[in-house]
Amino acid sequence: MASTVQMEAPHGQAESQAFLRQLRAAFEQLPHEIAVYLFTIRGKEDVFVEANRQVMRAFRDLTDKITFREYALDHEMASRWKVTEAPSLLIAPERYNIRWVGAPMGEEARTLLETLMLVGMGRSNVSEQSAKVLKKLDAPRRVKVFVSPSCPYCPQQAVNAVRAAVERPDLVSLEIIDIQARPDIAEQYSAHSVPMAFANEALIAQGAQAEEVFMLSLQTLEPQTLFIPDSDAPLVEADLVIVGGGPAGLTAAIYAVRSGLRTALVEADTLGGQVAATPIVENYPGFTQVGGKTLVDIMVSHALEYVQIFQSERVLDIKPGDPIEVRTTRRTFRTRTVLLATGASHRHLNVPGETRLSGRGVSYCATCDGPLFRGKKVIMVGGGNSALTEALYLHHMGVEVTLVHRRDKLRAQEYLIKSMKDAGIPVLWNTEVKEIKGEERVTAVTLHDNQSGITRDMAIDGVFLAIGYTPAVELARKVGVELNAEGYIQRDSRHRTTVAGIYSAGDVEGGYKQIVTATGQGAEAAMTIFEDLINPYWQRA
Ligand code: NAP
Repeated sequence: MASTVQMEAPHGQAESQAFLRQLRAAFEQLPHEIAVYLFTIRGKEDVFVEANRQVMRAFRDLTDKITFREYALDHEMASRWKVTEAPSLLIAPERYNIRWVGAPMGEEARTLLETLMLVGMGRSNVSEQSAKVLKKLDAPRRVKVFVSPSCPYCPQQAVNAVRAAVERPDLVSLEIIDIQARPDIAEQYSAHSVPMAFANEALIAQGAQAEEVFMLSLQTLEPQTLFIPDSDAPLVEADLVIVGGGPAGLTAAIYAVRSGLRTALVEADTLGGQVAATPIVENYPGFTQVGGKTLVDIMVSHALEYVQIFQSERVLDIKPGDPIEVRTTRRTFRTRTVLLATGASHRHLNVPGETRLSGRGVSYCATCDGPLFRGKKVIMVGGGNSALTEALYLHHMGVEVTLVHRRDKLRAQEYLIKSMKDAGIPVLWNTEVKEIKGEERVTAVTLHDNQSGITRDMAIDGVFLAIGYTPAVELARKVGVELNAEGYIQRDSRHRTTVAGIYSAGDVEGGYKQIVTATGQGAEAAMTIFEDLINPYWQRA
């Protein structure tokens, strides 16, 4: 991203002079005057007040574009600009809502210089993608960025926030708070490491972010780690359209683009599929232990190096032919091949109360909802790897969890079974859930012991379900792809389905359903597609 201030830091006296000349010239070009106001407490002089004065007088002496005035906190100008903290430095408050609480010392002098330049230009210089995100803002964002004079990463994040405030002065207000000058405010926000950013009192970022990621965090009011560029193109031509952004689809994308195929990946919901909701992954080579979401972020960042991802876009139908037409909720793709990597969705128990109380005590995602049940009593239904992984996660989080399994034997890995025994998680064997009860929220379950025949109610706060997955084959069905006896996509050893030009990979094919097998299948499918496009099997016959 191009910075506004492109000047080299001065080393010797000659360099200093040259730097000042450059600065003067840069200020001279600015179309807008910049009024800066310092607010202090009458009679209270300290190092921070003095630092504000010195830095601003130095800038003012360079250019007549800057006017600098100082007021006491009890002056009417303080109530005019709603200033309650001192020292506070307000930059062009008649046009923007940007202020320092403390002083722009040390590394923060860089932020101040960049701010003066942006305000003087009257332009945020944000990227096109950032501007798109900021355009979507429809409610105020009160931003606080905590910084310190010795933090080299802070200016990047503080400047991101300044750019947002300059781009959307109607909605974004900014306070840059120096934790050295104001440890009391830092303490109030538990800002013990900098930079740390809040918007509307919600933590949106720890550490410095790329500009687009910061803007997305600001828009969503949640910390974001990735930014996926958006596209408005109504028609996209491709060699391969991958449907599904789980491990299979992401790997296929990397392999396909590296082979030279024009590739697009379309994902309707969450990138990473089920892995994104897996608390801890312990069997993906290279990682002894890694959070599912972290692993997904790594894979998505890798894939983004190669492929354009069309997220939050649902494929509505696929018309086979040459080219194949893929219609989504936002555009049409014309492509030579399609890879269905649609994965699988949670299986339901289909008992009374399950649908009605879903999201009100019934959950399919321990990582997402676990924290809400800390100190409460829940059951985890299922006897496979997912149920055990998630039960362990809940247990370690401080949730009182009991495993409920319909048989007397688990189908999970030995390692997980041992971990569960070691953690002392109780198991109700041969037990089926017959009903989930509660008015507003889950309060009890009806359990049936299929050995003794006894049915009883158990008081409970939550029901977590991890009873396997149903393959997401709606699109495959629509396009006429044959399914096997278990309902998964029927395909040959090279991932070709029964419809020419349509391939499959990952959980939608059945089989082992491991992250590592899904990535392997994605790679295999992409290599087959590449070879078939050179020498189409459907024309060979
Ligand atoms: P799964 O292996 O299919 O196990 C589903 C469990 O739910 C089984 O114990 C099954 O009982 C039970 N179940 C199914 N329908 C039920 C119903 N209507 N009522 C009560 N119980 C029911 O599913 P998963 O555990 O979600 O795993 C899916 C795939 O992902 C597997 O291939 C698994 O190996 C993989 N995975 C791997 C890891 C890992 O490697 N660490 C972690 C998570 C998932 P029965 O045993 O009686 O059939």
